[in-house]
Amino acid sequence: MKAICPECKNEIEIKDPQNISVGTIMECNTCGITLEVSNLDDNGEIKFEVIDEGK
Ligand SMILES: [Zn+2]
Repeated sequence: MKAICPECKNEIEIKDPQNISVGTIMECNTCGITLEVSNLDDNGEIKFEVIDEGK
């Protein structure tokens, strides 16, 4: 499973892949942005929607 932050383009570490589903809230550990999982595609790629830019 792979997650790329839409803001900083760094890979987000997924601590608990089995608990990831649409609507899961995550935080990018590089830029601190808050993200909600919007889609999981068949390749295991996670798509996000930005919730809080966390400046
Ligand atoms: Zn980021």
